[in-house]
Amino acid sequence: MRTSIQVGRIIGIPIRLHFTFLFIFFGIIYGFATLPATEYRIPLGLGGIEMDTFFRYFLSSIAAILFFFTLLLHELSHSYVAMKFGTKIHGITLFFFGGVAMMEDIPKSPEKEWRIAIAGPLMSIALGGLFLLAYSGIRMLNLAVYRPVEILVFTLGFLNVALAFFNLIPAFPMDGGRVFRAFLAKRMPFLKATKRAVLIGKIFAVVMAIGGFIVDPFTFFLTGEIVTGNIWFPLLATFLYIAATEEENATTTFASLEGIKVKHVMRTENASAREDMSIMELANKMLDDKSVEYAVVDEGGELKGFITFEDIKKLSAEQRHRLKVSEVISSFDRMSEVISQEEEAAEALKRLVSTKKKVLAVEGEERGNIVGIITKRDLAMFIEMLKGRG
Ligand SMILES: [Zn+2]
Repeated sequence: MRTSIQVGRIIGIPIRLHFTFLFIFFGIIYGFATLPATEYRIPLGLGGIEMDTFFRYFLSSIAAILFFFTLLLHELSHSYVAMKFGTKIHGITLFFFGGVAMMEDIPKSPEKEWRIAIAGPLMSIALGGLFLLAYSGIRMLNLAVYRPVEILVFTLGFLNVALAFFNLIPAFPMDGGRVFRAFLAKRMPFLKATKRAVLIGKIFAVVMAIGGFIVDPFTFFLTGEIVTGNIWFPLLATFLYIAATEEENATTTFASLEGIKVKHVMRTENASAREDMSIMELANKMLDDKSVEYAVVDEGGELKGFITFEDIKKLSAEQRHRLKVSEVISSFDRMSEVISQEEEAAEALKRLVSTKKKVLAVEGEERGNIVGIITKRDLAMFIEMLKGRG
């Protein structure tokens, strides 16, 4: 299911909006239009100010759009520093909880990781500082700026500073968690450092879920009043907990593949099918081989593409009788879908994940000579067996 849409491209990076981002977007529009300007210790909204309803929501929309751009700048800072270190960025997605920059390969070098992680919060602090400076400038110089605009500038400053501090909490998946892991990873193995940073992240999430449910920290901060919390904190905490767990799983998986090469995991038997086979023949071959993924080759053994059981399943009975394998395979990218047998198995896994393919072709010492295939299932089973060995 497609859950996000691409809205543009900045310094070559595709920018996507996840549908859940709409919640935060409209949440800000509604919040800024209604949060009282006077009852709170600090003004964070236009509530209570006499003004035209249209103009109120117009300003609120501007606040949401500006916040969107500051969030984008936060993610772009991570991406920019990562790119400086030679890491490829697949894209930036903004969703409910904020943003995420999808990196090809999060550097395992602590020196690089903490710099990439800190870049986002630093950008948010800088942006927040600028807005707050502009706000105090407006107040000090007694510029006759319309009060709602003043509140708008202040709110953006406040949101960015709050975002920076929240992200600096040393718990996964926050940026601070990455800085913390990098700090630990200088003293201990990467996997151990990850587990420790993840544990802090989980503890933080549990405290947040329970604490936020008992007392609403937001209201306490704004008014000093103690009121019961709401469901948003346990929800946000659940999200944080899941993200922390995922980080741990991904790191464990990649760490377990250390030193394992593609040739150790690849399948060499029943790995290829001829392009001139009919689909019916291939379906029978699948039953005989008990295999569902093949690299498709021509007479000379040259790679022509891939075919899986999923591809056959999509065909009608009539098509299965009529078509040949060569008519069903789709085009493939030699750069990402062919891997050398001497390559790290972790690299194969990374490519399968990033290309969303089920199978890669493995070439032997001679370039273009396909010696086997490697699939997600092969890797998953191999990792399970490694774990079983302890
Ligand atoms: Zn960040």
